[in-house]
Amino acid sequence: MSVQPGRPAKASHRALIFHGPGDLRLEDVPRPEATSEGDVLVQVEVALTDGTDLKAFRRGHPVLLGPPPSPFGHEFCGVDTATGRRVVAANSAPCGTCAPCSRGQETLCENLFPLRNGAYAEFILVPERIARTNLLPVPPGMPPEVAAMVEPLACCFHGVEQAGVSPGDTVAVIGLGPIGLMLCACVADAGGWPVGVGSRPERRALAPLFGAETGTGEGADIVIEAAGSVAAWEHALELVRPGGTVLAFGGLPRESRVEVDPFRIHYEEVTLKGAFHHTPRHVRTALAFLGSGAYPFERLITHQVGLEGVARLLADPPRDYLKAAVVVSG
Ligand SMILES: [Zn+2]
Repeated sequence: MSVQPGRPAKASHRALIFHGPGDLRLEDVPRPEATSEGDVLVQVEVALTDGTDLKAFRRGHPVLLGPPPSPFGHEFCGVDTATGRRVVAANSAPCGTCAPCSRGQETLCENLFPLRNGAYAEFILVPERIARTNLLPVPPGMPPEVAAMVEPLACCFHGVEQAGVSPGDTVAVIGLGPIGLMLCACVADAGGWPVGVGSRPERRALAPLFGAETGTGEGADIVIEAAGSVAAWEHALELVRPGGTVLAFGGLPRESRVEVDPFRIHYEEVTLKGAFHHTPRHVRTALAFLGSGAYPFERLITHQVGLEGVARLLADPPRDYLKAAVVVSG
């Protein structure tokens, strides 16, 4: 390819592009470029797969992905190309000025969307607003694949706060995927007693590493639904004790309907709450928690692939799969 004098060729990079359910392609596309002051171009070292990516890969995602073709992946750690610092960033930042932000409900920010995607690529551009609020330097010595867990862990801290976990509370967590196990650790950190409910034996075996017992969860003070199914939402509402709280953590497809027993809500004063996303405060808490070494979060990464291996992995995840590290560079 000849390059015209005075006009440098536009740099390209390899990126996974989502074209529709089940159709994820590794393509050479123009490398993102900073367009305004404060944008940060990050060279991705490692990205992580998560359950939301898996759902999005299978059926698309109304919130996470725009209309295809769209960049994909949102958990990552990499190097700020301008400073050489290793950084992590969340996939959004609240605007700080809209009505929900003014009320302190940053997860409901009217300007949160679109969420940032494109971590399954050699480079990702972190726009100025996210860079200003939710881009953090990685503490020395923290492996990049551990640092990259900051976003889902921040969601878990927000969830545990929403649930109102107090010291001594028994907290059932339905679903022991990576999120369920992270929630167990956050519950334990808040002084609660996490009880892992359901899931396959391989996953239940990990619960003690994250501060949890396993059990039925019956009569728990708080039940956190982290399985993302209608059945689990309904089961959570059955398990919780009178006067207790159910936290709906796992998202469901928009057309879903959940049966709620009004007797439980009225006569037994059960509270049903939702939790979505994270706040800048929880992003910071999560990074510090990862750095504390209190729990072996690296155990949640069960597989390692390159960019070319992501589609195959998401199409048919192995039985012992929790999260995969997508190693891009470094
Ligand atoms: Zn806002």
